[in-house]
Amino acid sequence: MALSSQTPPGTSPITPAVIAPDLAARFDAMLETMRNNRPTDDLGIVRRAFELSAQLHQNQKRDSGEPYLMHPLETGIVLAGMKLDPVAVAAGLLHDSVEDTSITIADIKRDFGTHVAHIVQGVTKIGKLDFASSEERQAENIRKMMLAMVDDIRVVLIKLADRLHNMRTLQHLSPERQEKIARETLEIYAPIAHRLGMGKIRGELEDLGFQYVDPAAYILVRDAVEEKRKQGEPILAASEALVRAQMKEAGIECKVDSRVKRLYSIHRKLVKQRITVDNVYDLFAMRIITRNSTDCYAALGQIHSLWRPVPDRIKDFIAMPRPNFYQSLHTSVIAEQGTPFEVQIRTEEMHRVAEWGIAAHWKYKDGPVSAKDEQRLMWLRHMVEMQTDTSSAKEFFSDLKVDLISDEEVYAFSPKGKVVIVPKDSTPVDFAYMIHTEVGHQCVGARVNGRMVQLKHHLKSGDIVEVITQKGHPPSRDWLGFMKSARARQKLRHWLNIHQREQAIEIGHRLLEQEARRFRAALKEMKEPDYKRVAGEYGLGKGEDLIAGIGYGKFGARQVLNKLIPGITTPGAVAKAAGMLSDVKRALTGNDDAIKVKDHDDLMVYRARCCNPIRGEAIVGYVTRGKGVAVHRKTCPNVSNLLFEVERRMAVEWTRETVELPGEYSVKLAIDCDDRPGMLTVISGVISDSKSNIRNVAAHTAHTEATIDVLIDVKNVKQLDGIIKGLRKVPGVHDVQRVTQG
Ligand code: MN
Repeated sequence: MALSSQTPPGTSPITPAVIAPDLAARFDAMLETMRNNRPTDDLGIVRRAFELSAQLHQNQKRDSGEPYLMHPLETGIVLAGMKLDPVAVAAGLLHDSVEDTSITIADIKRDFGTHVAHIVQGVTKIGKLDFASSEERQAENIRKMMLAMVDDIRVVLIKLADRLHNMRTLQHLSPERQEKIARETLEIYAPIAHRLGMGKIRGELEDLGFQYVDPAAYILVRDAVEEKRKQGEPILAASEALVRAQMKEAGIECKVDSRVKRLYSIHRKLVKQRITVDNVYDLFAMRIITRNSTDCYAALGQIHSLWRPVPDRIKDFIAMPRPNFYQSLHTSVIAEQGTPFEVQIRTEEMHRVAEWGIAAHWKYKDGPVSAKDEQRLMWLRHMVEMQTDTSSAKEFFSDLKVDLISDEEVYAFSPKGKVVIVPKDSTPVDFAYMIHTEVGHQCVGARVNGRMVQLKHHLKSGDIVEVITQKGHPPSRDWLGFMKSARARQKLRHWLNIHQREQAIEIGHRLLEQEARRFRAALKEMKEPDYKRVAGEYGLGKGEDLIAGIGYGKFGARQVLNKLIPGITTPGAVAKAAGMLSDVKRALTGNDDAIKVKDHDDLMVYRARCCNPIRGEAIVGYVTRGKGVAVHRKTCPNVSNLLFEVERRMAVEWTRETVELPGEYSVKLAIDCDDRPGMLTVISGVISDSKSNIRNVAAHTAHTEATIDVLIDVKNVKQLDGIIKGLRKVPGVHDVQRVTQG
């Protein structure tokens, strides 16, 4: 069909663009697809959008040298493939027009209506990937995308289609840009597609991304899989025939096919489980599509009568759908010649949802999404809700990445049987926050399957988790060191931000008043405009922000005072020159004399409880909000977790050993050993030989093995290392570990 002959009313009366014949043909094919998929829809808007797009982009070229129009067209084709409505496809055809050409949103609104305009505006707002942009900027863009997604999900479907075409044509860009774009695709776009249940798009994005992010690994996996495919294909074909015959015999109507799994998902498995392609049980997947879910279970039985299932690999995602609503029965079997493969059994309907997710039941022209789709967006809504102006885009981004990437979930239960889905390695604290924000805040302990566990205990599927709360008990920042769920982390951060700010303001006031007294400054005469003026000098909006900044240790009270009343603290004034850090100390009490902060003798320091560093160990300080400097072992997991605020790290060192107290530090050791008579005596002997004191011993035995926990006092790490070495030499001792409490 020729495209150049008609210019529909409404569009700008410019000469229609000349459209390359191949693009015109692609467009016609797309219209044909849409007509088949959605026979009752009016496609006029799609044609007009294409013609306008052709006109607007007519003199632009892609990096490949091809006409730019190809890109919006291919984006539209992907959207049509998702069976989206004409408004979405039209918006897709125009998605780059406002950013790259002279047209405005108002023009689009006039010619295509509010919906197309609204969606194009959403896409434009997110903007293009600026590959030179900072992480902060990237984080901000992703946040905008999240907001736009909540507003109209079609904005994100267009971004996904746009990204898919860009990935398909990535070979034309420089290697640096390829890597950058591919990485972002793997970290953000593919996981979003996954969350929306769009398995097909996710798979293609991942394989394309993998190819550019790690080309060497890609080739390795590809070749290894290709080799396996050649060997496995005849066996698989024979197995398929066997299944078809068996199902026919059993009266189960179904479709059967098989394929090799996606390279990126295989690669991830190899890396995570540290195995080779030979050990992957599900390199091949056979798919059986049945008429209804009863037949799914019947088919599973038939499969297990043909081949023995691999233990622990039968999964019922029909009864317990994944959070993205994926449903299927999975099992792994070993066929002839030891060839293992996975079998996925599901209905036609479940299959459509698995491939297209949120787009599987696209009906509306502009109405709301279905209840299920609403639910699908819940995680996202929660993420966005948790966004407050106090948490930075970067924090949000890193949480989101963790949440997006961890695609394995744990299904845990409340004592009343409510299913709570949390990411892998989640803890009772994560669980508590999923039950209710307040339950999370007031959580003080947990029972898992009836047994008390530590708060950092890792939950497993099937665990029954009973959260113990105490009214008014405050949550702890340390939890961030082990919590896994992004939503739970956001909730805790939100609480911490509010409460720490209150505290910081109080401390800030106290410090400032103290400084004012010392210099006999009349702080009472200062009014909000004065504070506001100084706040402005620090780039802050409100006087309160300034005071909070003092409390956080960001600005020195004296420096602020000097700005409030210029000249008041100039030399000759009373106090000796002491920096802001000593101010913090004066506002607080208590100290650990064995450690000092480099160049700041008088700063309050304390040993962090989480890792309990002892003299001689490599340590690092971290400025806490209002409690001085916490000193951690360099290897403490909390330290790496706190790394996102690098500016709060501080060099610390052990003071010279003037008077070394024997047994200054208590350390708990867990000793795994044979359970035999006399063991405890030998162990006590080793410890007392090294002049250390035993404070407490507890032994647990199981069969012929024992774990002995001893609490000992040591003076430094050298002594401790000596004891551990000595214990390891004892015959029958298998392992000695230092225990740190969380
Ligand atoms: Mn684009």
